[in-house]
Amino acid sequence: PGPQLPFDKEKKTVVVLGSGWGATSLLKHLDTEDYNVVVISPKNYFLFTPLLPSVAVGTLSTRSILQPTRYITRHKTRTVSVIEAEAKSVDPVAKTVTFTDNSEIQGEVSTTTLPYDYLVYAVGAEVQTFGIPGVREHACFMKELADAERMQRQFMDCLESAAFPGQSQQELDRLLHMVVVGGGPTGVELSGELHDFLEDDLKSWYPELAGKVRITLVEALPSVLPMFSKQLIDYTESTFKESKIQILTKTMVKEVKPKSVVLQNPDKSIVEVPCGMVVWAAGNTGRQVTRDLIAQLPTAQTNRRGIAVDDHMRMDGTDGSIFAIGDCTATSYAPTAQVASQQGAYLARIFKQMARKEAFVARKAELSATVNQITGEEEKKTVVAELASVEKQLTKLSKLRPFQYSHQGSLAYIGSDKAIADLPFMNGNVATGGVATFLFWRSAYLSTLFSLRNRVLVANDWLKVKIFGRYVFILV
Ligand code: FAD
Ligand code: NAD
Repeated sequence: PGPQLPFDKEKKTVVVLGSGWGATSLLKHLDTEDYNVVVISPKNYFLFTPLLPSVAVGTLSTRSILQPTRYITRHKTRTVSVIEAEAKSVDPVAKTVTFTDNSEIQGEVSTTTLPYDYLVYAVGAEVQTFGIPGVREHACFMKELADAERMQRQFMDCLESAAFPGQSQQELDRLLHMVVVGGGPTGVELSGELHDFLEDDLKSWYPELAGKVRITLVEALPSVLPMFSKQLIDYTESTFKESKIQILTKTMVKEVKPKSVVLQNPDKSIVEVPCGMVVWAAGNTGRQVTRDLIAQLPTAQTNRRGIAVDDHMRMDGTDGSIFAIGDCTATSYAPTAQVASQQGAYLARIFKQMARKEAFVARKAELSATVNQITGEEEKKTVVAELASVEKQLTKLSKLRPFQYSHQGSLAYIGSDKAIADLPFMNGNVATGGVATFLFWRSAYLSTLFSLRNRVLVANDWLKVKIFGRYVFILV
């Protein structure tokens, strides 16, 4: 048989699905002395999503924002099993997960099933396309590492094709028009990063194309960044205006074609706009495996946005053995890294509490069994006293504190070395934008990166870009 999972029969098994913000935060904080821990994820690394748009334009290199999951687990006190596989189904009654090895090289077994005592369901979400024709086929996403690499390739292809001798003016205009769909933070940050590349590097790399590239940000709602204050929305819009990034609000993308995008204008008229690249940043939806799990509990799980959980992140309709955190859940919190990582850390505390409770339950059973057999008065007194103290502890440990989110503020990079921040401060809110906020944005993200290695790599990339400019090219 292949490698055995590190099962200690005395301990309960926690299976963690995912290696993103929620799962990684849990793994960082979990005491692995208490449980057998198995992590299953199709990616054997953690991706620092806030800096993904910077990778897409070559400001940062891919390795700088990745952290191998084994790098985290190898520092734990007991072995944690990391399995690169995709969970295909969860059986909440039999308490099993079935998962598949999707890699190109496979062994004899590519699908197997594992039992769990506790399941931490943290598979995130996938890109929402609303079934709009052509999105999946012709647009780039901005969710995974492969998306950033694909966008970089397509962006560079547009520039190289535009630089090809003999292109007509019409074709030049098309190739040099970049459309970003979705005025949420992802679309805004990506537009800002694209603008920086054009401003800082295009002039020296492609002097003949400088000033000809256009960026259009399309948003269906009346404004971009609805989660930020009005003042910061205005600041972003005026910065984009100066940066010559066109914002089309109340405009909806209806179709994406190989060489154009079909828009519905605010007056409902339809136009087809030629473009070289479309980046789709129009939000997220639940994964198929999540929809399948929800469908198994139709009475308790009625929210179409995701998994309904109680105050302790336990999936409604289960016996408390499935916890769900992050973007796969439907809660009152926004689907952000901040929320997912706090939920992961919270769960680690809950697991510690449950382990301590079990230890006291076992001790109570031991003491109760011996107390009546003791004949010596003094000895009996001691055991009775310990029993009382154990019961006190048990009462305390039976009360699980509910999850409470502590909002640290919202930050977004908007290009031109400017960022915006809505920060909770002295029971009020501070809305700030500009270069100082940009420096704050950089230091905040640097300190949030999970390891010293990543901090050094990202700081080094920023320095390299300052000195030598960005380094992007087409590998194939
Ligand atoms: P994820 O981090 O998406 O992790 C899900 C994990 O599950 C992944 O490891 C995935 O590989 C794995 N998985 C997928 N399918 C399966 C399966 N079938 N079986 C097992 N594992 C599976 N939030 C902020 O708060 N601040 C920001 O600045 C910010 N910037 C962002 C920038 C971008 C470009 C993007 C895309 C998102 C950004 N977010 C930001 C949002 C943030 O990334 C998400 O809210 C966060 O990733 C959610 O964490 P999660 O653990 O729920 O999911
Ligand atoms: P989002 O859901 O916040 O924004 C998507 C936008 O696309 C919406 O405003 C929607 O109206 C628009 N849209 C949808 N369909 C459209 C269409 N057909 N045509 C035109 N516009 C369309 O998605 P996001 O920006 O990817 O963010 C996802 C989550 O991640 C959010 O919770 C966000 O707060 C978080 N996030 C945070 C940061 C940050 O804090 N800096 C950065 C990125 C993401």
